Amino acid sequence: MEYCFNCGSFPCATLNHLDKRYRTKYGMSVIDNLESIRKFGIRHFIRSEKEKWICPRCGEVVCVHKSQCVFCQHRWR
Ligand SMILES: [Zn+2]
Repeated sequence: MEYCFNCGSFPCATLNHLDKRYRTKYGMSVIDNLESIRKFGIRHFIRSEKEKWICPRCGEVVCVHKSQCVFCQHRWR
């Protein structure tokens, strides 16, 4: 599998633009995620993301694009 950090232009203008939008709108960084994958590996990243994206109220998976759980309507932003 190839990642953006395998590219000599990482982080390129397109990725920086996307990262800025996600930092601002959703409170997460795609560049930080890629750096984490590069540093610790994809398995570690997936484990940490699983914990991060679980609704604290109902335990269902939440969506990064929403500020409310679609299952129980719990709000976190
Ligand atoms: Zn929920």
